[in-house]
Amino acid sequence: MDENGTIRIALIGAAGRMGMEVLRTVSQEPGLEIVVAVDREHVGESCRAVAGGRAPEIAISDKLGAALDSTKVDVLIDFSHGSGSAQHADSALKRGIAPVIGATGLSDADIKEITLRCKETGTPGLYAPNFAIGALLMMRFAEMAARWMPDCEIVELHHDRKEDAPSGTALRTAEMVQEARQDAPTRKPRPILKVEGVRGGTYKDVPIHSVRLPGLVAHQEVLFGRPGEVLAIKHDSMDRASFMKGVALAVREVRGLNGFVVGLDKILFK
Ligand code: NAD
Repeated sequence: MDENGTIRIALIGAAGRMGMEVLRTVSQEPGLEIVVAVDREHVGESCRAVAGGRAPEIAISDKLGAALDSTKVDVLIDFSHGSGSAQHADSALKRGIAPVIGATGLSDADIKEITLRCKETGTPGLYAPNFAIGALLMMRFAEMAARWMPDCEIVELHHDRKEDAPSGTALRTAEMVQEARQDAPTRKPRPILKVEGVRGGTYKDVPIHSVRLPGLVAHQEVLFGRPGEVLAIKHDSMDRASFMKGVALAVREVRGLNGFVVGLDKILFK
């Protein structure tokens, strides 16, 4: 924090769709300032020229380590690509900077490694596969429903440029459903599949169906069935703005966490 209590933020993935939204919105939040922007695209260009709105007038750099050494930073927001997030987190942690990772698709090995680095450096961090407040409530409600309705399927729908499937949110929802179930789901007769994969992929005994189409943003429906009734819990992110309140909250809270935490719900429902 600077002498006015402002939290200084570095952002990696600044020229991407989420990064630009962060540049336009999070920098308008009182007490938050984006002081470093990194991306491999649009290097040397001003964030305002790239993202528009009231994005800060700082140049995009392509060297994370050098950029973190050149300016005082408190928190690193990562909206680049999950494949680089462990390395980006390491760059931040060894400088005492708390990472807030929004890029999805981190492996279990990545999470283990970042957890260890947080412990070694004594600097906390957060990985939030979903920052939308409504999505976190959807997951919480699904957890409540699974206790009494163990038969569950997830349909997740995203824009066609999303690389990973199923989404991190769908995987986490399936884990929460499995942990909350009191009874096993009903065993169904082996279906005759006329099209390979038509029943989706099963994770934690929850079939997941991933839809990818242009025009979509991020949507998920968690369906529960039991004799005579069906419960559908649905969430739609209509716009990337839906994630920004959660990002700002994570930036404000991350340095008070203990070690490496996975899931914004740990902050939201604490
Ligand atoms: P995008 O492809 O539009 O943007 C990614 C940006 O990161 C690009 O500008 C790219 O050049 C840059 N980049 C990638 N790897 C880099 C590296 N090693 N160094 C520097 N720059 C790098 O993607 P997007 O739609 O903005 O999404 C970004 C990530 O955020 C994805 O993993 C996506 O799944 C995730 N996401 C998370 C949430 C959430 O709530 N946690 C919400 C939406 C998207």
